Amino acid sequence: MNATPDLARLNAELESKPPHDIITWAVKTFWPDIAMSSSFQTQSLPLLHIVSQVAPQLPILFLDTGYHFPETLAFRDQLVLEWKFNLQTVRAVMPRDEFVRQHGDDLYRKDPDLCCYINKVEPMERAMKGLRAWISGIRRDQSATRTDIQVLERTPDGVLRIHPLATWTRKDVWQYVHDHHLPEHPLLSQGYLSIGCAPCTRHVQEGEDERAGRWAGQEKTECGLHTLLRTGTDTPTDYQAATPAQEPTAITGESHRG
Ligand code: SF4
Repeated sequence: MNATPDLARLNAELESKPPHDIITWAVKTFWPDIAMSSSFQTQSLPLLHIVSQVAPQLPILFLDTGYHFPETLAFRDQLVLEWKFNLQTVRAVMPRDEFVRQHGDDLYRKDPDLCCYINKVEPMERAMKGLRAWISGIRRDQSATRTDIQVLERTPDGVLRIHPLATWTRKDVWQYVHDHHLPEHPLLSQGYLSIGCAPCTRHVQEGEDERAGRWAGQEKTECGLHTLLRTGTDTPTDYQAATPAQEPTAITGESHRG
């Protein structure tokens, strides 16, 4: 990691801090140029719950890829209603009918990296324009690609990534969910430990790691949000040609805050 001395010092200080303290520090330091992303699955709940207590005004970015399970959308709506989040929906610049016209309705099968780039990475990069800090709930113990994440990381664009749960384990997450009587994503009981888009997610078998059901049977293990944005974005070569020329709206502006 290319940590500046200050970043290294801050990381050393924050490594042992609880998520409440990290979020409080981050919002105080970077407000209003800060947001959090969430995929609204059960493992997202501790961070969402903490934010609802210490920084309910924080924008929560939700990537609407158009491929979510209906259960995820219903769970998101339930939480937004109950916890009063400042939800901001982020979408691809390309309208869905144009996307299907150009790529067919199974790009996730033919070229999942391009599909993720169009529907996840580019919209999130666009949503982060003007931000100085971005909070997400990734943890070191989730997969082999996340074992070295730091609490604070600088993206190539200069945005500071903040991972308040970097040091937490899966057990810590479930303990928090249990202790605070938090609700469960409706698909958790069917073995969906990590939930993304429906075509690219299956339930997890006994003994598999929690992300084993994501892009199962493929080399792909990450959508790109948490890898490309750490190391520099490799834009898929045919994306420029596939993207309409007009400047997109960064965030659709759908606010669900009650
Ligand atoms: S997870 Fe699958 S459906 Fe969702 S954007 Fe990526 S490739 Fe497309």
